[in-house]
Amino acid sequence: MLIAGNWKSNCDLVMGKNLASSIVKSIKGQTLNCQIAIFPPFTCLNSVSNILKNSRISLGAQDCSEYNGGAYTGEVSAGMLLDVGCKYVIVGHSERRIKHGETSKQVRIKTLNVFNSNLKPIVCVGETEKDRDLGKENDIVKKQITSSIPIDAGAKSLSNLIIAYEPVWAIGSGLTPTINEIERMFKEIKKNLKLHLKEKYVDDIKILYGGSVNKKNSNEILSLKEVDGALIGGASLNAAEFSSICLEIYNKE
Ligand code: PEP
Repeated sequence: MLIAGNWKSNCDLVMGKNLASSIVKSIKGQTLNCQIAIFPPFTCLNSVSNILKNSRISLGAQDCSEYNGGAYTGEVSAGMLLDVGCKYVIVGHSERRIKHGETSKQVRIKTLNVFNSNLKPIVCVGETEKDRDLGKENDIVKKQITSSIPIDAGAKSLSNLIIAYEPVWAIGSGLTPTINEIERMFKEIKKNLKLHLKEKYVDDIKILYGGSVNKKNSNEILSLKEVDGALIGGASLNAAEFSSICLEIYNKE
């Protein structure tokens, strides 16, 4: 189980350091049955990395470049993220796909770069409200999976793959799919991963749910057998709420 907190473009340095320190403090000495990672903006990564040293919380970045360094002004490569202490990188978040026109081909290149830097990618997929109204959610998610995952990355890398199913209409909206809808989509994603990749890696691949997860709904969603964790935006900016989600005991079979 992985609980991941995506801070998005929030927190100046003082706020970021305070938020990270508060989460570390709340978790310290407590029984944990999940892994925790936080994803501050690039400007906070180095300071937060120092705060997380000797804690049970890992560091992640919200994106990386499709280039591995060189004359690409403004770009941050996967290797630079490893250097600053990251373990995870979110790639293909819907806010990047939609607001920055990022294509699945770019997501696939970024994912490969993340693997090649010995980091773990969290590849985001999910349908828009329009896709859903047209009954196309399965097709869209299948297409994103097949075109965003580099199947040639090799077994060792692919076993480190993490998928986040984040329906776009659920992000930041306070809306979530029903538990049955989440369960159905997760089964569909597993089926598509099995078709797309060699069967043997698929059981190692974690699938997270993201979209308006909060203290009230986290236990029900995370208790689903198919769900291996959550990618949390808004609620991860509140140290008390995020920590209490991490400290919940989930009734996994
Ligand atoms: C996200 O940013 O990935 C996300 C799921 O946001 P929120 O939890 O605010 O819906």
